[in-house]
Amino acid sequence: ENYHAVLTENRKLFNELQELKGNIRVFCRVRPFLPGQGAPNTVVEYVGEDGELVVTNPTRPGKDGLRKFRFNKVYSPDATQAEVFTDIKPLVRSVLDGFNVCIFAYGQTGSGKTYTMTGPDGASEEDWGVNYRALNDLFKISQSRKGNINYEVGVQMVEIYNEQVLDLLSDDSSQKKYPFCFNFLFLYSLSFFTSCFRFTLTLHTLGILSTTSQNGLAVPDARMYPVKSTSDVITLMDIGLQNRSVGATAMNERSSRSHSIVTVHVCGKDMKTGSVLYGNLHLVDLAGSERVDRSEVKGDRLREAQHINKSLSSLGDVIFSLASKSSHIPYRNSKLTQLLQSSLGGQAKTLMFVQLNPDAISYSESMSTLKFAERVSGVELGAAKSSK
Ligand code: ADP
Repeated sequence: ENYHAVLTENRKLFNELQELKGNIRVFCRVRPFLPGQGAPNTVVEYVGEDGELVVTNPTRPGKDGLRKFRFNKVYSPDATQAEVFTDIKPLVRSVLDGFNVCIFAYGQTGSGKTYTMTGPDGASEEDWGVNYRALNDLFKISQSRKGNINYEVGVQMVEIYNEQVLDLLSDDSSQKKYPFCFNFLFLYSLSFFTSCFRFTLTLHTLGILSTTSQNGLAVPDARMYPVKSTSDVITLMDIGLQNRSVGATAMNERSSRSHSIVTVHVCGKDMKTGSVLYGNLHLVDLAGSERVDRSEVKGDRLREAQHINKSLSSLGDVIFSLASKSSHIPYRNSKLTQLLQSSLGGQAKTLMFVQLNPDAISYSESMSTLKFAERVSGVELGAAKSSK
């Protein structure tokens, strides 16, 4: 890629991004009916290209039951993974210019959060979700700028379950059991014999690692692995996913009750000026937002539900107190908001995918998802000052 072409493209992106700065964008994605689900009975009446979505109350057919929403974008059920990624590419690439970006998927269990963020099980490249595509895109663009700006790209993957942070790329066997010794060997060789050490060293040399952990940019104690090729992207993502799903079978679909966060760290050195920039991208697949009836759950399920409620409502609290320019932003109230602090507020850019299950059975959950999304989409984060 020609450097001048890249600069021109950057300028264009920069102008687009000026618009984004400080705002939360909300993109709503409606998942299709799945085969074998019986006759589709949809609540989604209309999906407009201009960001309009109309849903209908299944118990009140006719005009009275219609409710209209407007978001920055609305995807119909047939939107492809590639289309979705094309729309968020400028946001993802701004990380290479030193911005902090956070992309969430919010919605009830089964609404397509993991599909959007990761893709379906065993996804081919065409079905890759945002995580694979973003990581691969950042890696490829960083390669194309080599010589002008030299980048290091590193990845961390963690899961927050019951307010505990688990490292999905850890090779600590007390925390995670690797199903295949291949994974262990891969991580082992990557971290000890090749460039993990160099990457960490580079960050140290540049004084970035200590700054990032102090500011909460890097997840403390979670291993960071370098990305040197597309196959590293695939292997790291696969290991993280495998670890997440191993936990899930053992603990009854735990993945829908935990948040998973992929963090891509980018550090670039401008070879002409010697200046260094640092950006990070948080890609978050949130726990299911459905309300659990407390009278019906006990023990572990109740504890999980309480933790999920607490962290999702803390996320809302942070967003809304940023919006109201409050002098105290309650980042400390949950592990989730603590870890994402650098990407919420200030100059950071935030995008929320609101996921909907179109089935009439999910109407009330869909309405509460949409109402949350509606509140969030009006939020401007830029002007607020963060407090510790
Ligand atoms: P969640 O992460 O919100 O619990 P999933 O991503 O697991 O939901 O989606 C539930 C099911 O719907 C999965 O089988 C998934 O493959 C399928 N699905 C979700 N979104 C889409 C889509 N846009 N196109 C095709 N299948 C989808």
